[in-house]
Amino acid sequence: MTSTPAPRVVLLAGGVGGSTFATGLRDELAERGGELAVVCNTGDDLWLNGLRLQPDVDSMLYALAGVKDLAQGWGRAGDSRRVADELAAWGVGWEWFLLGDLDLGAHIARTSWLREGLNPTEAVARLQSRWDLGATLLPMTDTEVDTHVILDAAGHRLHFQEWWTRHRARLEPVRFENPGIEASAPAPGVLEAIAGADAILVAPSNPIVSIGPILAVPGLADALQTAAAPVAGVSPIIGDAPVRGMADVCLRVAGVPCTTAGVAAHYGARGDGGVLDAWLIAEEDAKAAASVAALGIAAHVEPLWMTDAARTRALAVAALRAVGL
Ligand code: GDP
Ligand code: CA
Repeated sequence: MTSTPAPRVVLLAGGVGGSTFATGLRDELAERGGELAVVCNTGDDLWLNGLRLQPDVDSMLYALAGVKDLAQGWGRAGDSRRVADELAAWGVGWEWFLLGDLDLGAHIARTSWLREGLNPTEAVARLQSRWDLGATLLPMTDTEVDTHVILDAAGHRLHFQEWWTRHRARLEPVRFENPGIEASAPAPGVLEAIAGADAILVAPSNPIVSIGPILAVPGLADALQTAAAPVAGVSPIIGDAPVRGMADVCLRVAGVPCTTAGVAAHYGARGDGGVLDAWLIAEEDAKAAASVAALGIAAHVEPLWMTDAARTRALAVAALRAVGL
């Protein structure tokens, strides 16, 4: 089936799109005896109710563990809200940001370990040790670089979660910032995973607020540039629209057209200072293949809808094929 036995694959990913893709990739690699390391966005992380939350890391953790609430798209399946109701009665926290009881258990565990002196990578390692994920989860960095949404020239700002969840991305931002990211470093194990990989994949995740912060960690984009392994990305844009979520607003703010070729140009070809060798585009966007190829990025037209486990797995197979596996 493949010329590389037991391939080692690194995936860069955000929450919903990233974790859905990761489950298909994990299943496919498990069958090939391969290894998967997921470098997860931590730009969504925040302190709330005295607890450290890592929304994208937890989406990935729950999805790979098979305990995610798939209907809701986030949090734990079968969760309850007794603690959330108590917190609301106390007037604590954000009433528009519901945290279920089981989910809060993970946040309390993580915060306890951080208070005991573990770094975030070690805390994430402990969280994932509870399940056999068939993958290793790595936060992109151990530095707190929470994404801020800058709303005006005076610098008024919201945490990304408040802008996204409470305001549904309706307030038009002037830019996104990750304060402190210039002084951050990739988390332990990230550069090693990239350097030792047989293939590197960029998930169909939000290019600006999920993959953007990962590539902004100093040294990370350089590591992709110089990696021996080929790099392929999966377009999160199908038919000039973000499939779910509000990625179009983020792209507009960053000046990137909400098209598959626009996102490919934003990531750039590896031969041209960017990070991609190949780009999977939807059948609906087949006409964009020539403009992607003109960027120096190999365009692969594939079905990109992850509407069920079989289609998600097939997309993972297509992405592996695009990197020669
Ligand atoms: P978030 O952190 O929860 O916002 O999740 P991600 O950043 O990982 O993924 C969000 C992106 O996934 C959205 O902007 C969509 O464009 C993309 N997405 C969601 N479902 C699909 C799908 O079925 N196929 C593809 N190609 N992209 C998808
Ligand atoms: Ca996210």
